[in-house]
Amino acid sequence: MAGIGDDERLTRRSFLGAAAAVLSTGAAVMPGAFGQTSEEMRKGKGNRSAQNPGAVNRPLVKENPDSDLPPDTDQGDIAPFWYSFDLAHRRIQDGGWTRQVTARDLPVSREMAGVNMRLTAGSYRELHWHTANEWAYMLYGNARVTVLNPDGTIFIGDVGDGDLWYFPAGYPHSLQGLGPDGCEFLLVFDESNFSEYQTFTLSDWLLHTPPEVLSKSMRLPESAVAKFPKEELYIFQGVIPGSLEADRKAVGGKAVESKVDYTFRMLAMKPNKESASGDTRIVDASVFPPSKAIAAALVTIKPGALREMHWHPNSSEWQYWVKGSGRMTVFASSGKARTMDFKANDVGYVPIVAGHYVENTGTEDLVYLATFKSPYYADFSLNRWLRRVPPWLVKDHLSLDEKELKMIPSGDDEVVGR
Ligand code: MN
Ligand code: MN
Repeated sequence: MAGIGDDERLTRRSFLGAAAAVLSTGAAVMPGAFGQTSEEMRKGKGNRSAQNPGAVNRPLVKENPDSDLPPDTDQGDIAPFWYSFDLAHRRIQDGGWTRQVTARDLPVSREMAGVNMRLTAGSYRELHWHTANEWAYMLYGNARVTVLNPDGTIFIGDVGDGDLWYFPAGYPHSLQGLGPDGCEFLLVFDESNFSEYQTFTLSDWLLHTPPEVLSKSMRLPESAVAKFPKEELYIFQGVIPGSLEADRKAVGGKAVESKVDYTFRMLAMKPNKESASGDTRIVDASVFPPSKAIAAALVTIKPGALREMHWHPNSSEWQYWVKGSGRMTVFASSGKARTMDFKANDVGYVPIVAGHYVENTGTEDLVYLATFKSPYYADFSLNRWLRRVPPWLVKDHLSLDEKELKMIPSGDDEVVGR
C-alpha cells in the first residue's frame, strides 16, 4: 500500500486530538496535517512535508484539490472514482457527436456505463438495438423517440429538457433531434463495458447480408436493395419531422397504440423531498413501470449544503454531474476513504453499500443524477439511523447527550446544511 509512514500516523493521531480541541472551542479554521492550514501547506510554510518542488500540472491540481491535499481523514488505496466526459474521445459525424465513459475509462464502475450525445435539428441516431437497458436524461433541447414493442405496436414520443426515457435491452429504437436546435442528452446503460460504437444498427446488418437474401427477405427488387447505405450510418442528417400527431397518424390505428409510455417528465415532477437546502426527485419502477432495471435520483444541492451521509443497499451509484461543483468522500471500510472533486459534465461512482456524502463547494446550485442498476431506489441515511435506534445506543457509541442527539436531522430531507 502506498500509505503513510508510522511517523505521519503518529502526527495525524495527535493532530486529530488537537483538531477536536479546536472544534470544541468553536474556532473557524481547522488546521490540516502537521497543524497547518491547507493554505500554509500549499505554500510550504513551516513544516515543508507537503511542499511539491517538482513538476506540477497546475490545471489538474486545481481540478482535484482533495487529491493534492487530501482531508486528514482520507486514507488508503482507493482507485479513482472520477472521470469526465470532457476527457473522452468525441466521435463527430455530420449531424452530431457522441462520447462515452465506460469501465475502460473508469475501471471501478463494474455495473454501469454512460454516453453523452448531441443531435442537430433533424439529425438521427440510426435505428438500432443493443444488449444493455438504456436509461436517458435530456440535458438540452428536444428529440423524437420511437421504440417497437414485441406485441407489434410502436411507441412514438417527444422528449425535452429534463425528461427521461427508458428502452429495454434488445428493443429496437431511434432518436431524432427536433427544432429549434436539436438536443443533447445523457444515456446510462446497465453494462459497465457497454460500447455505443458496438450497437446493432440497421445499416450495419444490411451491409453484412448477401443482397439476394435482402431481396428475398424484404421482397424488394435488386434495384431497391442497391440503394441501401454503403457504410454504417450511425448519426446522420435528416429532415425535421412534423408534429407528433402527424407521425402517429402516419403509422395509424392499433399499430401506434403502445400499452407502455417509455418517457417520463422527471424534472417537471414534484420533488420527493424538498427543503431550504435542496431537493431530490426519485424515479424508479414504482412511478415509471417500464424502468425495470435502472432507478435514478435527480438531486439539487444549494451552495453550502450537502446530500447527507448515506449509502445504498441494493446497487452501486453511477453519477452524472449536471451543474455546479462539489466534493464527495467515499468510505470503503477498513479505514479506507478518499475525497474527490467534481464539476459539471463529470462522472462519479460509489461502490454498493459504501458510505458517501456530496457537498456543494461552489457558489451556484449543484445538480447531479445518481443512477442505480436496480428496479427500485433505496438508501440508508446515517442521520435517520441514529435518530431511530433507542437514544442510549447513540449515547453509548458517541457520548451525545439527549439535547445533542435531537440536533441531528431526522433523515427525512436528504439534503441538509442550510
Ligand atoms: Mn440505444
Ligand atoms: Mn448516494
